[in-house]
Amino acid sequence: MNHAHQALNTNVVSRAYRLVKPRDVQDIVIEHEVHDWEVVVEPKIGSVCHADLRYFTGQRRAEALARKLPMALIHEGIGTIIQSKNPHVQPGQRVVIVPNLQGYLIKGLNQDQCCETCRGNKGNNYCTHGRFLGSGMDGIAQSRLVVPAASAIPIPAEVPDEIAVLTELCSVSYQALSHVADRLTNANIVIFGDGPVGYLAAAMLQHVYKVDLDRITVFGAVPEKLEKFDCPNRKLVQEYDFSSGTSYDIALECTGGKFSEGAINQAIDVLNPGGHLILMGVTEERVPINTRDVLEKGLTLKGSSRSSIEDFIPVLHAMKDPTCQATLSKLLPSAIIEIKSNEDFAEAMAFAEEHRSWTKVLLDFRWEPSC
Ligand SMILES: [Zn+2]
Ligand SMILES: [Zn+2]
Repeated sequence: MNHAHQALNTNVVSRAYRLVKPRDVQDIVIEHEVHDWEVVVEPKIGSVCHADLRYFTGQRRAEALARKLPMALIHEGIGTIIQSKNPHVQPGQRVVIVPNLQGYLIKGLNQDQCCETCRGNKGNNYCTHGRFLGSGMDGIAQSRLVVPAASAIPIPAEVPDEIAVLTELCSVSYQALSHVADRLTNANIVIFGDGPVGYLAAAMLQHVYKVDLDRITVFGAVPEKLEKFDCPNRKLVQEYDFSSGTSYDIALECTGGKFSEGAINQAIDVLNPGGHLILMGVTEERVPINTRDVLEKGLTLKGSSRSSIEDFIPVLHAMKDPTCQATLSKLLPSAIIEIKSNEDFAEAMAFAEEHRSWTKVLLDFRWEPSC
């Protein structure tokens, strides 16, 4: 590296709450290089994801942990711009952080200079040179985050912080649904899962894709969770006769874990010929599925779990609407946990693990002013 090049770059010091081994979080000072195309963000609110908890509790395979730790967790979050050379994001601006960083953004290049997936426009959320915050690189649990300017998206003034922090989660649902967007104008849609993933899928259908609520049906297992959904068609899986015929064009599998198998096969039962099944629930196990009916009905199965910048924009736009905010606010906890130290962070993660509730666990980062 020559001196002329070095002079263009500055360095920034960050305090990172790094997970060094399961349940052990330390406050570690790290230094980031800041390139011209990057911005410095002070993370403000983070939201805990199951993926974070899998690292924290050590549920990932030992080799994955050995490879990825030490690492600051959290990939769902918002912050304030501290430093920027980009006219679109100025210091003081509130931004949502996009955790999926494509290779070309990291290197300050154009999309057509990246991997084959990006060059061929095959979905840059699957860039083979990409990295993901809080999964293989330090995430949002640090005082100074350095990301490409394009990955820090301004939050409209109408959107409060605690709604904006849900953008990443919403964008994943939005991305999954974008594959069937042209069918949503008249399709009958069924959602399997009464948890937050299913709830957000319903919210995106209603508020972003403007699907009438009476075209959405939700299958769940817990009456209290089902009641939270705005759509009137809510059914208990244990009471429904899945051999009673087909009536849906699109099914969303939002259960994951040990419920995936049942949900996927029930979805196959109720889908019309030519129907689409979107898989969003995460499961570590292999799932036996009724391929006979997949073949016979000519069903299309599509997996989706990661979003990118283009998915955040329409979500943030929809969030300006107070009715959308009202829907999303049901996922908010009664209190946001203040995080002033690595101990606070570890405690909050342990709390999130013990209270696997329907609402999100939000972290309010209080970084002391650096002296
Ligand atoms: Zn997540
Ligand atoms: Zn790429």
